[in-house]
Amino acid sequence: VKTSLCLLWVSSILSAPVNKERQKLLLISFDGFRWDYDRDVDTPNLDKMAKDGVKALYVTPPYLTVTSPTHFTLLTGRYIENHGVIHNMWFNTATTEKKPYYPTQFVNDWWDNGTLPIWITAQRQGLKAGSLHFPGTASSYQGQVAMVREIEPPLYNYKNETVWQDNTDKVMGWFKYQDLDFVSMYFGEPDGTGHKYGPDSPERREMVKQVDRTVGYIRQSAELHGLDNSLNIIITADHGMSTVYRNNQVEAITLYKIPGFSFKDLSFHLVDYGPSGMLLPKPGLLEKVYNALKGAHPHLHVYKKEEMPARLHFAKNDRILPIILWADPGYVINGVLQSNKGEHGFDNENMDMKPFFRAVGPAFRRNLEVEPFETVNIYPLMCHILGIQPEVNDGHLTATKHMLVTSEAPQGQVTITFCLHPKSLSSLLQDSNGIDHYVLQ
Ligand SMILES: [Zn+2]
Repeated sequence: VKTSLCLLWVSSILSAPVNKERQKLLLISFDGFRWDYDRDVDTPNLDKMAKDGVKALYVTPPYLTVTSPTHFTLLTGRYIENHGVIHNMWFNTATTEKKPYYPTQFVNDWWDNGTLPIWITAQRQGLKAGSLHFPGTASSYQGQVAMVREIEPPLYNYKNETVWQDNTDKVMGWFKYQDLDFVSMYFGEPDGTGHKYGPDSPERREMVKQVDRTVGYIRQSAELHGLDNSLNIIITADHGMSTVYRNNQVEAITLYKIPGFSFKDLSFHLVDYGPSGMLLPKPGLLEKVYNALKGAHPHLHVYKKEEMPARLHFAKNDRILPIILWADPGYVINGVLQSNKGEHGFDNENMDMKPFFRAVGPAFRRNLEVEPFETVNIYPLMCHILGIQPEVNDGHLTATKHMLVTSEAPQGQVTITFCLHPKSLSSLLQDSNGIDHYVLQ
């Protein structure tokens, strides 16, 4: 006992849960699964998941309600103006170059622009993370990638149910054999079907049945891999879907037909992308372009960047262009012409833009329906379940914590062991009001 004495200090405040196994988490997105898609289709597996776990009536995505930006919010807990992945399309206003959704997945600095997705944060704190097809997976972040990852191949068939099952088994294998703690997994439906046939079509209802069967398969696969005591599963989506009015049902918004507006006054534009648009007028022409468009159509919203409603959190980023346009539900903004029967990208207050949310697993309460919440709050919930320190984010654990079995540390007893000199022990014992008990070794 020359030098030091070891003190084992257990705080009983944190010792409630007995589950010693580290909690794992699988985050799944079914692209474009609107909150109410289970209302006109039989969904026994989604219903069972709600009974065995937690269901939210709906969740609110960030604006702009398109795929890459809203998925990056799920991974970071930040609003889009704060994480910087502001559109599905990478663009360069100087060269007027644009890249569609898929090639943009490979533009590293479009994604890696200051905000870390949860994979990297988890890995920095000693966990193992993976991702299958989730938007953002192809990029590295401050030099790091998800340690196990599968990037979506080009020209991928999003609809093949057998491939969905194979991918599910692959991910469960990652958890079981490679001991991953966190995986994000992406399915490109029912978005594709919703765009092509519209959200009210029989094709969309059939696709929701396929999603439901797959939810059943996912839970069965987890069980077969012996993961049901350790694996939590969150299933949600990036945005919803809304029917576009066609033909002579409505007066279409067609930019080149608007008096006083000319594409010649712009140095760059992003239109023909559903109901949203962004414009960069040539020097000195901002007021002219703005005045021509403002009030030009009763269902077209026209904002200067600095006048954007604060609730949309879509202004404070250099990548966002000086004029922002969006259309009301039912309408799209045609530069030339668009042909989808379903669209998203509308105001996130619109009910058609709200995704669904289900969660099940050892961390979650059972048979609980919770009030709607914003999807920025899923990130702090995930960090809490994994027991990692979150990065700066726009979410709040208080918005989602009530879903959990216990609001205390989910990984069980927290034990801190350290050594100290015998002399300091006596002073510690005198100052130990907050410590419930300690054990000398
Ligand atoms: Zn999407």
